[in-house]
Amino acid sequence: MTYALVLNSGSSSIKFQLLDPNAGANDEPLVSGLVERIGEATGAIALTVRGEKITSEVPIPDHSAGLEMAFALMAEHGVGPSDVEITAVGHRVVHGGKVFSAPELISDQVVEMIRDLIPLAPLHNPANIDGIEVARQILPDIPHVAVFDTGFFHDMPPAAALYAINAETAAEHGLRRYGFHGTSHEFVSQQVPDLLGKSADEVNQITLHLGNGASASAIRGGHAIDTSMGLTPLAGLVMGTRCGDIDPGIIFHLYRQGLSIDSIDNLLNRQSGVKGLSGVNDFRALREMIEDGDTDAWSAYNIYIHQLRRFIGSYMISLGRVDAITFTAGVGENASFVREDALAGLDMYGIEIDPGRNGLPNDGPREISTDNSRIKVFVVPTNEELAIAQKATQLAARMQTSVS
Ligand code: ADP
Repeated sequence: MTYALVLNSGSSSIKFQLLDPNAGANDEPLVSGLVERIGEATGAIALTVRGEKITSEVPIPDHSAGLEMAFALMAEHGVGPSDVEITAVGHRVVHGGKVFSAPELISDQVVEMIRDLIPLAPLHNPANIDGIEVARQILPDIPHVAVFDTGFFHDMPPAAALYAINAETAAEHGLRRYGFHGTSHEFVSQQVPDLLGKSADEVNQITLHLGNGASASAIRGGHAIDTSMGLTPLAGLVMGTRCGDIDPGIIFHLYRQGLSIDSIDNLLNRQSGVKGLSGVNDFRALREMIEDGDTDAWSAYNIYIHQLRRFIGSYMISLGRVDAITFTAGVGENASFVREDALAGLDMYGIEIDPGRNGLPNDGPREISTDNSRIKVFVVPTNEELAIAQKATQLAARMQTSVS
């Protein structure tokens, strides 16, 4: 059996999986791991190897040491990089800008191009580059592939992609809607035509990725025509800690009131959303608070649902005809109450949730609408690591064939 290694590097963490790219979406990876608190006094490595959990608390000075230590721990359990055959390393890269639409084989030049995009993703792309550089040093003989979170939205129609901002300034600074979570929207939306028994090019659909971060997409015939995140992942839906769409004038107002740009950034990205309104960002806790009569939790939930319904409604009009609406990610897959409230009272538009189907536990792709519902509603679990593993493996194989 051959495997792909998938890396998602953050500023102080590396998440990774070693998995079979031909596995099913619900299969457990051979190894999943998290290296966290890199650069802090005590770091931690947590691995799950064939279902067994292994943890180690050690100082981890930098990304390089973190990955080396994780690989050494994997080797102790017989699943290190020299114990199994790895055919590709897939790297999640947050921002591909206007340059990258498809997965890219990583070379020094590609790393420089990702570096050039740092102004568009100042927190994410540097961390992604750290992960790429470290992994290329440790595993120099394996093809490394960058898979971009923005790629799926690269070719959106200009009316959806461009902002009504002075054209010269927009061009100078690359201001446009890039969209994020593209790997997830693509992975999930590609399964819907099969569920409908139709071919991909005849399906119009809305996908709702509701995790801690959240985004909605409108997809026509396999191509994204709109999405809720923008130049950055701050835009669109209300999220765990991010505000989603707000009046941009709020930022000037706060700035003129004396808040620094960094504190406004922190406020809108980390202290807002459901957490900023209720104190919690986990929907399990939010639901318990609502059941206990907490009015802030109830208000946060209503603001979240209100915004979600706005996007669903506007994408229905943009698409004209909708065949399916699909929920995915932590909230979308597990919180049946969110699905119910997001689509309640829409039978006149041909949307009818079946409460029995909606209440079933999260177990693979499934329909939750009634047999009569004209627009079908699905839950399709996302698996971004598997999607990246597949893309990286396919590209590595294509390169292999074109070289030999
Ligand atoms: P991320 O955006 O960090 O990848 P996930 O897609 O894993 O996040 O979603 C995490 C969120 O999913 C949690 O914060 C929580 O709100 C929600 N969630 C996870 N499991 C459940 C559950 N059983 N019921 C309700 N919400 C859940």
